[in-house]
Amino acid sequence: MRRSRSVKILATLGPASNDQKIIEELVRAGADVFRINMSHASHDVLRETVEKIRAVEKSIRYPIGILVDLQGPKLRVGKFADGSVMLTPGETFTLDTSETPGDKTRVHLPHPEIFSSVKVGDRLLLDDGKLELKVAAKSAEAINCSIVYGGKLSDRKGVSLPDTLLGMGALTEKDRADLQAGLEVEADWIALSFVQRPEDIIDVRKIVQGRAGVLAKIEKPQAIDQLEEIIKLSDAIMIARGDLGVEMPLEAVPGLQKRMIRMCRRMGKPVVVATQMLESMITAPVPTRAEVSDVSIAVFEGADAIMLSAESASGSYPVQAVATMNKIAVAVEQDGNFQTIIRAQATQPEATAADAISAATRQVAETLDLAAIVTYTSSGSTGIRASRERPAKPIIALSPKITTVRRLSLVWGLHCVQTEDAISLDDMVDRACAIAYLEGIARPGDRVAITAGVPLGTPGATNMLRIAFVGQDGAGGS
Ligand code: PGA
Ligand code: MN
Repeated sequence: MRRSRSVKILATLGPASNDQKIIEELVRAGADVFRINMSHASHDVLRETVEKIRAVEKSIRYPIGILVDLQGPKLRVGKFADGSVMLTPGETFTLDTSETPGDKTRVHLPHPEIFSSVKVGDRLLLDDGKLELKVAAKSAEAINCSIVYGGKLSDRKGVSLPDTLLGMGALTEKDRADLQAGLEVEADWIALSFVQRPEDIIDVRKIVQGRAGVLAKIEKPQAIDQLEEIIKLSDAIMIARGDLGVEMPLEAVPGLQKRMIRMCRRMGKPVVVATQMLESMITAPVPTRAEVSDVSIAVFEGADAIMLSAESASGSYPVQAVATMNKIAVAVEQDGNFQTIIRAQATQPEATAADAISAATRQVAETLDLAAIVTYTSSGSTGIRASRERPAKPIIALSPKITTVRRLSLVWGLHCVQTEDAISLDDMVDRACAIAYLEGIARPGDRVAITAGVPLGTPGATNMLRIAFVGQDGAGGS
């Protein structure tokens, strides 16, 4: 299987899609990486979901990335007896310390620290700011609110308190347990929510120790203040527009999105644009025009991946949402202006052999109209540098490590294949040509550019560029 686009699709799994048959349909429709959201998944659900994804990966022989998203210090309401309630403006609603399931008058708020810090007059924004409450009175056990903006409030929706000062760390006890569970199931990426400081990333890296990529979700103003440092310390970032748009003025989000994508492209760090991309498809089989435009903006800007949340996790049209995102991405990348727009943010190679080779390879591949760029990458870093060039030709990333292949499935333009290390230069050329042919990316008579590190198998030593003809049946030639 091969994609006809470079941007990747990250789809969240949940009750609407957590099924092996649907997971396979989602992959066929375009999902490259799956997100398992630990705000909602138990450790049993995590394990079962990973097993299902790996079974699909095996049966269709296509590497799939798995991102385990840690809840972070996100505040959420408890559960309701009937799953949800309707809140009416002007009426009152109470958040309290009782674990009894909620109803239309009250619900549990499982965060004791809020009861001591909140003040009368403070705002509580629920479900990404869709509902607003104002604190009318409070005690150690209950916060009585008036409903300013009402609507449907369902189980475990998020709560933000923009007017309240809360002292909280980056990793909660739950996050630590979920992180261990994520590492046990060999997640390819661990996402960290509500990152505020560079130290938050350092702490997580110490635990992860290279076993997964560490992705920082940018959703707090404090993270924006130290963006460059946070990106430097992370393996990737997510522009988490849901909480970002609650924590910061909504109208600041588009500019921040552009700034973050550009910074990440310059630094060679994968960047995911997330939340509400096709929101109306939670309940409708077609998106709004504005949503189509929103997805296209992220693709035109050169983001590595675009994400679906509730659209694929709990909506009525999970497969259609992925298929729609795929169609939009393919159309944008084939648009006559795409190359010019993406090239407008061209990145300068850094003074390393790997960057010089990556830049030269893009040039060679485009000048000679080659079928593909094939890059041997052990840790994945050469693959990411090749992608950073945003070449107009497909990139095939070859690695002997399945963990590298899966992790790179999040990265722009990389078609990832696991293969043993080549034993000689001839073997390397043969293998590259055969894979380009077998994957349907090159035909006999086409040429490909191959980059590798010589001596072979030395990580981080990319120093060679070779052009080769693909022979009959994919055999390598020169
Ligand atoms: P969440 O993160 O879905 O875990 O809240 C994404 C966002 O805030 O946009
Ligand atoms: Mn969030």
